[in-house]
Amino acid sequence: MLTVYIDMDDVLCDYSSKIKEHKQKNPDNPFPQSVPGFFRSLEPIDGALAAVEKLRKKTNVEVYILTAPSTKNPLSYTEKRLWVEDKFGYEMTHNLIICSHKGLLKGDILIDDHASGRGQEFFEGKLVHFGNEEYPNWEALLMSLPI
Ligand SMILES: [Mg+2]
Repeated sequence: MLTVYIDMDDVLCDYSSKIKEHKQKNPDNPFPQSVPGFFRSLEPIDGALAAVEKLRKKTNVEVYILTAPSTKNPLSYTEKRLWVEDKFGYEMTHNLIICSHKGLLKGDILIDDHASGRGQEFFEGKLVHFGNEEYPNWEALLMSLPI
């Protein structure tokens, strides 16, 4: 059994575009991620939802969503949980882990757009760096993922 962790912001949901959009609309607020409703309103990254469903169907893979909270916005914890149910259904909420230190988790693969900063550098399995040359998008990632 392979344990695969998947990050949320800029891997499953398009955090950066929404930040940009908020900053254009309201340049006086430097922290759009603290606006109520921000996290639940994020659009999925292209191909992300289908990729997760595909991985969940594999009998040798256990998929978890592993996301660090925006600790200054307590609503981020709730909204991330709601986003997961909105997009994948209630059952998937059992596999949502909200944790500020991703290196504490045991597993085989961590798919994340950052290689460090939230403990990714201490993850003992393989770090799949989403968005880099090798894994620029979900289509490419699924083709080269070693599972
Ligand atoms: Mg991220």
